[in-house]
Amino acid sequence: MKYNIEKINEIGKMLAEVIEDAIQTEGQAEVLIGDVEMALRESLREIGRSALKCFLENADGELEAEMECACGGRLKYQRRREATLWSVFDKVVYQRAYYAGCACGKGHAPVDRRYGIEPGKVTAGLAHLIALSGIHKAFEDGRKWLKEFLLFEVSENTVRAETQKMGALQRQTDTELVKETQDESGLQKRERSQPPAPNILYGSIDAAKVRIEPRDEKEKAVENRETWRDLKAGCWYEGEFVPHRQRSVRQKDKAQREGVVLRAKNQQYFCDIERAEEFGKLLWATGCAVGADRARILVFICDGAVWIWNLIDHYFPNAIHIVDWYHAVDRLKRIAEEAFSNLEERQAWLEKNTEDLWQGSVEAVIEACQLLERKSNLAKQSLLYYGNNMERMRYAHFRAAGYLIGSGVIESGCKQIVTQRLKLPGAQWNVEGAVLTAKARAAWMSGNWQKLVSARSLLPLAA
Ligand SMILES: [Zn+2]
Repeated sequence: MKYNIEKINEIGKMLAEVIEDAIQTEGQAEVLIGDVEMALRESLREIGRSALKCFLENADGELEAEMECACGGRLKYQRRREATLWSVFDKVVYQRAYYAGCACGKGHAPVDRRYGIEPGKVTAGLAHLIALSGIHKAFEDGRKWLKEFLLFEVSENTVRAETQKMGALQRQTDTELVKETQDESGLQKRERSQPPAPNILYGSIDAAKVRIEPRDEKEKAVENRETWRDLKAGCWYEGEFVPHRQRSVRQKDKAQREGVVLRAKNQQYFCDIERAEEFGKLLWATGCAVGADRARILVFICDGAVWIWNLIDHYFPNAIHIVDWYHAVDRLKRIAEEAFSNLEERQAWLEKNTEDLWQGSVEAVIEACQLLERKSNLAKQSLLYYGNNMERMRYAHFRAAGYLIGSGVIESGCKQIVTQRLKLPGAQWNVEGAVLTAKARAAWMSGNWQKLVSARSLLPLAA
């Protein structure tokens, strides 16, 4: 919107006078910029509140005696009736024309309808900010944090409700996508309107435990004890070279060793608490949305859980499998620690086997583990791990082909969703709440927040 800046400046002058008066009246000896700033913030919030009230009260226009009801019946003008809304300027109480008297029993306020207002509820603008705090902080913490920004209080329950409403919108998008991609004609329709497929596309899948704990009697009826559930998460992404000047110290090290440094870009996260089979449908649906079904080369980098490889085989049988390099090496570290008490021996074994693995000589690593079978239980167990995943660990080949070999992107994704939000102190979840909060946060991490904000602003009109 373009504003009349001269008028705004006039208001600014008036406000400055108001603040000066207030300072003189108070007679405070020392006034610092922070005091002036705070007084301005409070006044601006008050101005916003009264302007919003005026705006809505002037919005009725010419009143009609009768109008058509949504049901097809007739509504009669009653009176100007009071309503409340919660905006970014705090509570606003306003009067607007109200129609009633239809046989269906529903009333109607044209102003509310026109502007997408739900009387008694928060505006989409405030909902956006509330939910933004709720995906980053425990709800009670988010409430305190918001107060500093907004200069008024919202309740912990409001933070929870608005955050989860965003998650519900994301879930709706997910559900629609799943439905569309499970159906042949839906798929064909998509095919015709597709953007070009990426040349090399990556996928990663992982899971992390979330503690589910009933909060009240109602929830106890569904799940009456504390349990742990797997939040399954996936990410689609592309690789790009990191330009020299943007490399971190770690990446410079890496460049010396490996020649090139790749990083992930355009990450699209998705998640759910569901059985593998259901999660597979979401994998397929989100994959179709980013062109995984049409990519020239599709590479999955995962930590090696069997259910994950099975899903990938089912939906993307031509994909290249890579066991995440860091998981494969981490296992070597743990074996070395268990098998050798002598630090030099430990280090020597680790270095040799890391190099073998780096060169893709998984057979050499397996032989080395066989020799330690009696000294280390983990070495014995790992025979199976390295044996089953041999073709997924040909790192020399993958590097030569120019592929990323580490799934840091999903590790950090799970961490950002689970560790940094669902496991925060004060978090207590039922399955629904955990899923919705996780989905809202994943949308933020994927750069899809604005889509949810837009959908949220249309919600009252859909009702
Ligand atoms: Zn009606």
